[in-house]
Amino acid sequence: MLPHVTFNDVGHTYKAKTGQNVCALENINFSITQGEFVAVLGPSGCGKSTLLRLLAGLFTATEGQVSIFDFPVVGPQSNTGIVFQKPTLLPWKNVIQNVLFPIQHKEGRISSKAKEAALAMLDMVGLKDFAKHMPEQLSGGMQQRVGIARALLMDPEILIMDEPFSALDALTREQMGFELLDIWRQKPKTVLFITHSISEAVLLADKVLVLSPRPAKILAEIKIDLPRPRSLMTMDTPEFSAYTHSIRKLIYAPTKSNDITGLGAANG
Ligand code: ADP
Ligand code: MG
Repeated sequence: MLPHVTFNDVGHTYKAKTGQNVCALENINFSITQGEFVAVLGPSGCGKSTLLRLLAGLFTATEGQVSIFDFPVVGPQSNTGIVFQKPTLLPWKNVIQNVLFPIQHKEGRISSKAKEAALAMLDMVGLKDFAKHMPEQLSGGMQQRVGIARALLMDPEILIMDEPFSALDALTREQMGFELLDIWRQKPKTVLFITHSISEAVLLADKVLVLSPRPAKILAEIKIDLPRPRSLMTMDTPEFSAYTHSIRKLIYAPTKSNDITGLGAANG
């Protein structure tokens, strides 16, 4: 089966008008099958958002090729939804107006069918009773849910999420992860989910790509063979710990002199 998304020898260097060029990605090769949930894990500043922007078509890679079903990505895609770290809601529009904004922008009007779909989407993300609230009246987690509803309303085939829960407290973050899995089960999509949380990546994904510090290279591609649906209980299993343990080991790659993990360089 043809992969849904392919990164083929992709590299990206930001060309600076003055000063130094910044190489953010190097030799990135991976593919995502349709309906697969892939998490990209890497340290801050390594090039994760760059990878996301290339798939979103916000700019073109300086090397290699990003493709969707064999078609090169050359600009923003209508079949791709993006959720950013901050929900970026329009403060002067209420919740449902925010969710409907991309449709209004694209089609110039809002049909009653679109309005119905937006209400159903708000119901799905647990905000049915907040359609008329203003963004400032919502908590951070609720605002992020509005951002997710907005991205899902266009029914994109590909959903890309850039550290969508990293501004949230730990409890809300975990809960949002489970809600996302629920939504993904109801409306299957190909997902590229960027995070710097090891446990979040293992909990959510079918496959985790572990990136090196900048310029990001793929250190490992790890298939997560945990049964679904996943729950809090998943996190208590030895299999879950084994995955997080091996990824942590890979990221820290301890040597004898800097071994802060207690895993020991000799083991790894
Ligand atoms: P991450 O999302 O992993 O934190 P980014 O992809 O945002 O990392 O950035 C990777 C590197 O590229 C960083 O060193 C960053 O400073 C640099 N970078 C990001 N965007 C630009 C840009 N528009 N122009 C120049 N350098 C950039
Ligand atoms: Mg980023």
